[in-house]
Amino acid sequence: MVGIAAACLRGLRRRDFVAGAALIDGRWISGGQRDAVVDPATGEQIAEVARCSAADVALAIEAAERSFSAWRGLLPVRRGGILRAWASLMREHSEELAILVTSEQGKPLAEARHEIEYGAAFLDWFAAEGERAYGETIPSHKADSLLQVRMQPIGVAAAITPWNFPVAMITRKAGAALAAGCPVIVKPAPETPLSALAVARLAEEAGVPPGVFQALVGDPIELSTPLLRDTRVRALSFTGSTQVGRLLLEGSAQSVKKVSLELGGHAPFLVFDDVDVDKAVKGAMAAKFATSGQDCLAANRIYVQRGIYGAFVEAFGTAMAKLKVGHGLQPATDIGPMTKLSVADKCRIQIEDAVKKGARVTSAKRDESLGPNFVLPTLLSQVTEDMLITREETFGPVAAIMPFDSEEEVVARANASEMGLAGYVYTDNLRRALRLSEKVECGMLGVNTASFTGSPIPFGGWKQSGLGREGSRHGLAEYMELKYVCFGDLAA
Ligand code: NAD
Repeated sequence: MVGIAAACLRGLRRRDFVAGAALIDGRWISGGQRDAVVDPATGEQIAEVARCSAADVALAIEAAERSFSAWRGLLPVRRGGILRAWASLMREHSEELAILVTSEQGKPLAEARHEIEYGAAFLDWFAAEGERAYGETIPSHKADSLLQVRMQPIGVAAAITPWNFPVAMITRKAGAALAAGCPVIVKPAPETPLSALAVARLAEEAGVPPGVFQALVGDPIELSTPLLRDTRVRALSFTGSTQVGRLLLEGSAQSVKKVSLELGGHAPFLVFDDVDVDKAVKGAMAAKFATSGQDCLAANRIYVQRGIYGAFVEAFGTAMAKLKVGHGLQPATDIGPMTKLSVADKCRIQIEDAVKKGARVTSAKRDESLGPNFVLPTLLSQVTEDMLITREETFGPVAAIMPFDSEEEVVARANASEMGLAGYVYTDNLRRALRLSEKVECGMLGVNTASFTGSPIPFGGWKQSGLGREGSRHGLAEYMELKYVCFGDLAA
């Protein structure tokens, strides 16, 4: 396992993808100081990247502001053409981008490949949405007047992105901002800068003009503080923890930015006793173990109706035992390392707490060659509401399964959370499915499916899971202002 990521990166045709330079105003900045990029599976350093400063952010904001007028002035179809070219380049370099993602983030290569396609699809989607940024004509309530509502780009946008989807979270934000006519400054997570900077290179090659798309890497607080304070930055989009989301919302208050936040989840997964157990287990496995569990849509609380509880736990345990844990670049790996040691430690704390409070634990046997960032797939059964895992997001491959008796009871338990990103319901009873689609408190609900994301859907959460929506036609609105215009005195 040692050396595998470094060897793969040395084999990349595009050497510039590992140069680690930031993109400011059309120039590639290598920086005096450099930060290490580490393979989370082995702890080995695999590259270095520039460490940008607050002064670099100031340059980027000026460049973005300068570029705004020409970019918003382009016909939407021209902006769309550039976004489509960017998507094509991502597909052309899909394998190299996927290797970068796996090397620095840890996810299995097959999932990284999927992320590149998922990410490119947002550029195609918003290329078209930008051409459909329709306004409205309002039937007038005044004589001799015409009432219009227009959609106009808000101005410079900042995007702060996470490490779990280091490519797709950039294109989901930047695709919408650029299509709306806004320049965007991206600050990727320090753990996963290489794939972000490679995507920035492809943006430049696709024809995104200098200043319109910029990517700066470095210390999160040093880089985000000037972005928050500057009144020329009109919109902020963030994906990450609820804790940091709150800080950014507070920091944006002074300059009253338009803020959209995709924060943590704590998804309930409800399984009723009228379903085929194997189908429900298949869904729960996918909803729990995708991205090695480091997914804000992950099923964090699996509630199974008592009549099938035993059968479900057994089948889930059997399916879980087949998961292969290892380096994401090794073929057949299902579960890679946690990207950050703190995420692995949080899983271990939740397991320990649950076991201390009476949960039954089943997990694969530890392979001592796996480093500290690895968490083995773990099943906790007989979980109770006093355990940490039922109150805190896990963000790792630990499944908590609890029995329930009635529909009313399980809805109350599912909704007893300050989070409200995703939810899942498995039932063959149509009337129950319709009832629950109304009652479960979340922004996205999968009914008899664990697979529902993609560019056409409004991605976002209720309660402390966030503000605003990404993807879909709603995603564009986060980067636009409405303008109402009243033309009066029109009588001949
Ligand atoms: P995080 O919130 O610390 O990091 C996300 C981004 O915010 C990174 O770019 C990071 O550099 C930046 N950041 C961190 N502290 C900052 C600060 N004080 N000021 C400005 N920027 C800052 O996320 P994490 O703790 O590394 O990730 C774990 C949690 O993030 C998970 O538990 C999950 O809840 C959440 N998450 C959610 C999503 C989602 O799509 N909703 C995606 C990824 C992570």
